[in-house]
Amino acid sequence: AAEDAEDLVAAAEAHCAPTYRPLPVVVATAQGAWMTDVEGRRYLDLLAGYSALNFGHGNRRLIEAAKAQLERVTLTSRAFLHDRFAAFCAELAELCGMEMVLPMNTGAEAVESAVKTARKWGYRVKGVPAEMAKIVVAGGNFHGRTTTIISFSTDPEARADFGPYTPGFQIVPYGDLTAMREALTENTVAVLLEPIQGENGVIVPPAGYLPAVRELTRQRNVLFVADEIQSGLGRTGRTFACEHEGVVPDMYVLGKALGGGILPVSAVVSSAEVLGVFRPGEHGSTFGGNPLACAVALEVIAMLRTGEFQARAAELGARMHRALAALRATGTVTAVRGRGLWAGLDLAPKAGTARAVSERLMDRGVLVKDTHTATLRLAPPLVISEEDLDWGLEQLRAVLIG
Ligand code: PLP
Repeated sequence: AAEDAEDLVAAAEAHCAPTYRPLPVVVATAQGAWMTDVEGRRYLDLLAGYSALNFGHGNRRLIEAAKAQLERVTLTSRAFLHDRFAAFCAELAELCGMEMVLPMNTGAEAVESAVKTARKWGYRVKGVPAEMAKIVVAGGNFHGRTTTIISFSTDPEARADFGPYTPGFQIVPYGDLTAMREALTENTVAVLLEPIQGENGVIVPPAGYLPAVRELTRQRNVLFVADEIQSGLGRTGRTFACEHEGVVPDMYVLGKALGGGILPVSAVVSSAEVLGVFRPGEHGSTFGGNPLACAVALEVIAMLRTGEFQARAAELGARMHRALAALRATGTVTAVRGRGLWAGLDLAPKAGTARAVSERLMDRGVLVKDTHTATLRLAPPLVISEEDLDWGLEQLRAVLIG
């Protein structure tokens, strides 16, 4: 018998710390780009787990890889090696054009690991005096929720009442090259940037910004760390968002889609010079690089190697952006940003709040996520069909002009 969605929403609210305000949909099953709730209603998923579900729900290749591994061995801890570990590290490094991998689980953990790596590199290789390492980040960033990461957030909601904050970070406006140049000192060990700011509303920096930061960091012996947790692994029409600008960073931070929407898998990927700074015992994770994670991620890497998902994201993304650009004529949308199958839409006041638009879309069977009060974010699974994408965008148009 179908469970009552309203009861389940109320029970979740009663017993879960109120850190989220989810749309009142209670999903029971999902396949491809579609989710079905406990009462049998179907919804088109235009969020895809914030890009963790790039390959769609219930992707057969990923499910089969996970199932086969479940029957073999799921966890060894890093105290022992397992037979999928070397392949995972080697193949992920190769996909990134890098040499070494530091495996973690969630995105925030990988960002923390990138911060630790950059600091250690700064002290052991660059020669920064003890305790003096600085990392430059951008305003409007989102890198996760740990105490250190929110210490360099500019979002008051993410920071309030979580202090004292971790020192050692300097914030400059995103896209401002002059501010970046002035921020770098001899103690700067890294610049940490999202090549496109996802949570901030899919903000694409001005053309030329990323290559200029790349050049600047190279000149100043500063690591360029690209947080591609949301932008990477096919979303923008390339494997990495940095590629659109011809930029190769010193370090990629990856997560979300690396776990195929099945389990959390994240990693820092870099050169041997940089990741080779660690010695045994200096960093670790019980679940990082576990056999199940490696088996799923290896399948993800194999799928990305063919380029077909990137091509699909580029093609469908162009289609989506054409439709979204046309919405501007309705006067309900003031800006559309993004790359590939990824978009941020600023709504005019007459369209209602982004939350209200999300709720009206839900009533029409489409799920999206508001970010800030007036911005909608679209990130459909890369496996969505053309017809379903068109249908979802028609619902959006209907809700906006409705
Ligand atoms: N970095 C970026 C760019 C993200 O978009 C996110 C999540 O939205 C994170 C880091 C944090 O990842 P997680 O939620 O897995 O800790």
